[in-house]
Amino acid sequence: MKVLKFGGTSVGSPERMRHVAELALERGRNIVVLSAMSGTTNALVEISDYLYKGNIPGAQETLNALEAKYDVVVRELLGTLGARAEALRAIERSWELIRTYFERGDRRRPFTQVQEKEILAQGELISTALMFAHMRERGVRAAMLSALSFMRTFDSGEPDMAYIREKLMVLMEQQPDAELFITQGFICRDSSGKISNLQRGGSDYTASIIGAVLDVEEIQIWTDIDGMHNNDPRFVEGTRPVGRLHFEEAAELAYFGAKILHPNCVLPAKLHNIPVRLLNTMEPEAPGTLICNTAPDGTIKAIAAKDGITAIKIKSGRMLVAYGFLHKVFETFEDHRTSIDMIATSEVGVTVTVDNDSHLVAIVDELKAFGTVSVDRDMVIICVVGDLEWHNAGFEARAVAALGNIPIRMISYGGSNYNISMLVHKDDKVEALRRLSAALFN
Ligand code: ADP
Ligand code: ASP
Ligand code: MG
Repeated sequence: MKVLKFGGTSVGSPERMRHVAELALERGRNIVVLSAMSGTTNALVEISDYLYKGNIPGAQETLNALEAKYDVVVRELLGTLGARAEALRAIERSWELIRTYFERGDRRRPFTQVQEKEILAQGELISTALMFAHMRERGVRAAMLSALSFMRTFDSGEPDMAYIREKLMVLMEQQPDAELFITQGFICRDSSGKISNLQRGGSDYTASIIGAVLDVEEIQIWTDIDGMHNNDPRFVEGTRPVGRLHFEEAAELAYFGAKILHPNCVLPAKLHNIPVRLLNTMEPEAPGTLICNTAPDGTIKAIAAKDGITAIKIKSGRMLVAYGFLHKVFETFEDHRTSIDMIATSEVGVTVTVDNDSHLVAIVDELKAFGTVSVDRDMVIICVVGDLEWHNAGFEARAVAALGNIPIRMISYGGSNYNISMLVHKDDKVEALRRLSAALFN
């Protein structure tokens, strides 16, 4: 058995949905994980934003547009009146739930994060209902596995793997005749049973969690591009797919901005040693990228960039003699539940970077007890990934040299065998990515 996850663009229109159904059916009795149709989660976020602000007409207008869009989708996807009516009933439940918050969205009863999560869950509930109806209409014995019945996280946000496995096995055993299974990506319940999600782009993570608990043969992430490219195709021309990546390399790329994979998606697959294959829905025969525990040695594979980074420097004359200095610095970040991405130390100071500056003011204030603090905002981590084990001489020199006269705020190398990270200003990001591609791949 395999897990096949199809992203938002792959199910973005009735035509694409039919195509996905074909692809899935050709591949046998697998678990199909679907995202919301492209644009839907963004529209639901927009509705929630209006509700937070108490702007009910704004929310209503966005919902109306969404309803109109889905009326067309239902008509174009489904041929029989019965199938259409059934799908519309399912979808109408979503709109009704959202509308209940229009009545309550006043100042006395402010809109909450819990309600927002319920709204965001509707995109995947709708796309799977549509796919289910389409499969049934084709005469396929598809079985629906409701993610809200088995996908659950702890308070920490980590998936409760034992619970998920147990529930999922029971649900699948209840449907022994199923030709294939359909489930929702992204959505889950938290430890108290409330509807929640695995963060934006989290359907990849759903696929990987399901793959891991069921110990499947392969996890396939079907998207709108033929695998992990060697640089970000949104900013660099002439990028090429990477045939094979080590789990660790894929994890570095996903974490440092390669949008094709959710950052958390690699770990469950890696721990269970399940290959992950990135494939293109529009070009199903393309080889894509295979992520597993072996990959070509001694090569640079790809470059990625992570935006929205803040660098914080703590300079202290006392660092030389004061063991425990770094401990105190790290503890400050821990106290504010802020994780650190990059670190560079010297005798007189340390710089760390964070991608979440919501507690920055308090962190800086506390760090002032240990030294002089300065902050650089609007930075980007440029990350060069490959088999960069230190005996493979020369890669770091080439990466740094490629940036030429672009100022590099900090460099981190040697933390893992797979990554050289360089911090630059956001205005230099695109040029840095292009120069690295030119120097390392052309
Ligand atoms: P899905 O909706 O299927 O989950 P995403 O939009 O999340 O798809 O991810 C696919 C997109 O990731 C591509 O269209 C591409 O623009 C972007 N992307 C960013 N970096 C890379 C990369 N290194 N290789 C391939 N795609 C990338
Ligand atoms: N629909 C969700 C999002 O747009 C999850 C996903 O597509 O992976 O973020
Ligand atoms: Mg995605």
